[in-house]
Amino acid sequence: MSDNEFDVIFIGGGPGGYAGAIRTAQLGLKTLLIDDRQGDDGKAAPGGTCLNVGCIPSKALLDSSKHFHHIQHDYKEHGIDTDGVSIDVARMLERKRKVVKQLNAGLIQLFKANKIEFVNGRGKLFSERQVEITPHGGDAYTVSGKHVVLAAGSVPFSIPGIEVDNEHILDNVGALEIAEVPDRLGIIGAGVIGLEMGSVWGRLGAEVVILEALDSFLPAIDRDMARLAEREFKKQGLDIRMGCRVSGAEVSDGKVKLRYSDGKDEHEEQFDKLLVAVGRKAASEDLMADDAGVDLTERGQVAVDDHCRTTAENIWAIGDLVRGPMLAHKASEEGIAVAELIAGQAGHIGFDTIPWVIYTDPEIAWVGKTEAQLEEAGIEYRSGSFPFAATGRGLAMGNAVGQVKILADAETDAILGCQIIGAQASEFIGEVVVAMEFHGAAEDLARIVHAHPTLSEAVHEAALAVDKRAIHKTN
Ligand code: FAD
Ligand code: AMP
Repeated sequence: MSDNEFDVIFIGGGPGGYAGAIRTAQLGLKTLLIDDRQGDDGKAAPGGTCLNVGCIPSKALLDSSKHFHHIQHDYKEHGIDTDGVSIDVARMLERKRKVVKQLNAGLIQLFKANKIEFVNGRGKLFSERQVEITPHGGDAYTVSGKHVVLAAGSVPFSIPGIEVDNEHILDNVGALEIAEVPDRLGIIGAGVIGLEMGSVWGRLGAEVVILEALDSFLPAIDRDMARLAEREFKKQGLDIRMGCRVSGAEVSDGKVKLRYSDGKDEHEEQFDKLLVAVGRKAASEDLMADDAGVDLTERGQVAVDDHCRTTAENIWAIGDLVRGPMLAHKASEEGIAVAELIAGQAGHIGFDTIPWVIYTDPEIAWVGKTEAQLEEAGIEYRSGSFPFAATGRGLAMGNAVGQVKILADAETDAILGCQIIGAQASEFIGEVVVAMEFHGAAEDLARIVHAHPTLSEAVHEAALAVDKRAIHKTN
């Protein structure tokens, strides 16, 4: 094989592309990974949206702001006086940058250790699996692969008439770099990103107004759980307004003037910063030449089958670029599965058991079906729930907000779904995912010994509650 020929070429080095590339390299395939992202120092910054401007930096800021909030609001009852606490936003942002850079560097080490050829530049697919590479600061050249995996990720949706400048009107990139706490932050979209970013800046002292076009809050979870979450966010001071469609925004005198309709009246609001968080779309633009043979869907995603095969032979696509939830762990599982399929193994993705998490406080995590989905599908189910307020650990921690809810098949008792609102929900959901992957029943979870006192006892009790035999509540 010549220097310009590879077994597998990955275009895009986010969690999908880089995890897939590591796996093909582990399997002995000659692997090339192309990613165009650079850090503010001009160095290669592999890891995609997730590591650079998504999952990781947002969690770094969520953790910093959570400390600040707890110190101010929750430490007193523990007997700790913390008068005069202040936030140094520049240092908080610096810590976030360090976390990102450490992980960027870790990835480059992993590429070297696995003998992956890594190019920092742009890749474009042509026919016959030819890929043109334009490295940053270098001349374009062409390579070819026996297989090509498209992993270009996603970019934010925009709203016509609202121009993101990342100074006053922000997308996720700007929202992670606000240099000082704004007095008033407007957010369009009460989805995952809107709620997480609203929590960060709200905890640090901004007045946060979230405008959401839909009438129902968090439609992906059950109404009782969504109401619980909404109540908590409102208690924290997030001003969430449903049924509000934003029509335009302009910057003047350093302020953002925004117009929206609540279905009855037109309103105007003024903010110091405005975050547009109305979802993301596949980054399929300029990724392929017309003759590449890869079809797109109506929504601009790369069309794939259940195994991430595109319409062109030996060309695969994964992650945010294709159908399914836009989640980092979904992207990396697809990357790994495709790598194994290319190597002749049986790559597997458990699409039905992909967990979702919103890292607010309380955290919101869910997996599987909701009551509404089960009703629509005509599936009979039983439901069991248990509040963290009835766990000894929750009360001892002083963090007992929320509950666990488990849905199980009325006949077979198979677990069909679970929703958790509460501290560390992101960690507990894993237990339910494992049970579901093994086709477990609520009874199985109910028979597992859970350490006492832990928050995870709420999962145990919710499983018992499916059969109306929870111990620490009346059924
Ligand atoms: P990406 O991570 O988008 O990576 C694709 C990479 O390919 C990018 O670096 C891009 O620059 C590069 N690229 C694109 N085109 C080319 C080309 N032609 N040539 C070379 N390189 C190219 N998900 C979670 O699971 N948990 C979270 O907590 C979470 N938090 C998030 C918070 C925010 C603010 C945002 C915006 C997203 C968050 N997500 C989260 C979603 C997550 O980031 C994505 O689902 C994930 O990054 C998708 O991975 P990917 O590999 O498909 O694409
Ligand atoms: P997510 O897909 O989780 O990032 O959430 C994006 C949210 O933005 C969804 O709840 C959408 O309903 C909402 N949204 C989309 N367009 C608008 C708009 N013009 N005004 C207000 N909310 C919107």
